[in-house]
Amino acid sequence: MQSIQIEQEGGPEVLKLVTLPRPSAGEGEIVVKNQFSGVNFIDTYFREGVYKAPLPHQLGAEGAGKVVEVGKAVNGFAVGDSVVYLGNQNTYAQYAVASAAKAFKIDPAAIPLETAAAALLQGLTAHTLVTRSYAVKSGDWVLVQAGAGGTGRLIIQMAKAFGANVIATVSNKEKAAVARKAGADHIILYTEESVSESVKGIVPEGVHVVYDGVGKATFEGSMQSLRRLGTMVSFGNASGTVPPVKLLDLTPKNLTILRPQLYGYITTDEERQRHIGALVELLSQKKLDIHIYKTYALSDVAQAHIDLQSRKTAGKLLIKIE
Ligand code: NDP
Repeated sequence: MQSIQIEQEGGPEVLKLVTLPRPSAGEGEIVVKNQFSGVNFIDTYFREGVYKAPLPHQLGAEGAGKVVEVGKAVNGFAVGDSVVYLGNQNTYAQYAVASAAKAFKIDPAAIPLETAAAALLQGLTAHTLVTRSYAVKSGDWVLVQAGAGGTGRLIIQMAKAFGANVIATVSNKEKAAVARKAGADHIILYTEESVSESVKGIVPEGVHVVYDGVGKATFEGSMQSLRRLGTMVSFGNASGTVPPVKLLDLTPKNLTILRPQLYGYITTDEERQRHIGALVELLSQKKLDIHIYKTYALSDVAQAHIDLQSRKTAGKLLIKIE
């Protein structure tokens, strides 16, 4: 089968299209013939070595397609089922092994495979952030950094559904329109304005919670934008990893700070079912607008990484796999 593999960490040029043996299913696993794989910022961290995996390795954290093999001790899946799944650095490929526990059957008439692949990882992330990292309530003030991004758009939509007031940051006017369409009430162009000053102009006490996936470049502004008892949810490093934080910096406003990862919120079966159930319901009732920014061929994954890292994109990037 064709797959993307890296033999060394580095820039987009290390992504190589290679031929590998088709994987087979072990106990508790299924093999999926992929139709779509999502592109996520985390893929660039593994490519660059910010997050580590033994080399050589494949890439990709989510996919959607049809089950072609079912391993031992797997219940509830049959060959031919349509599924969406969380992969393990292996979804940029024609076939991938998935743990049955992290695969979810879908009805493509209700949720097309393309939408499912585009929504899974960022949708689960957004849902766990707004319900678990900090449970957004009606009337809360919420700041979403990089609000036109794949994850940012979904956080905005979910926070609005809980009745929050949402302020989103974006780098340009086109992205401002994207974040507004997702539901943001206020936009800050963080390439031109101070985030904390602009937040204070909108809500002088500051916000209840900041969701910050940008990391290094926005951390200080996020902290300054919080009100007393506010919660800082730092969930990504798009601009670089956040340097160590001084605990005493939390004291003046009695702040709470978290640095969560999705997988730590969906460890048990109950947690996975709860969050995927909520996401599937939002998708099947068409309450979540999934915006696919661009779809790339498997051979063009390097361009997807370049586009994502150069801040060109607004919404989800997908790979279509033949
Ligand atoms: P996005 O679609 O949000 O793309 C990243 C966006 O970040 C860019 O479009 C850009 O928006 C903004 N950005 C600001 N500064 C930079 C910079 N220096 N370089 C690149 N981008 C920058 O990506 P994702 O939705 O895939 O991911 C968003 C964040 O969420 C990432 O940090 C990712 O790691 C994190 N994440 C964390 C998870 C977890 O479990 N903790 C799970 C999923 C995602 P603009 O042009 O408006 O500035």
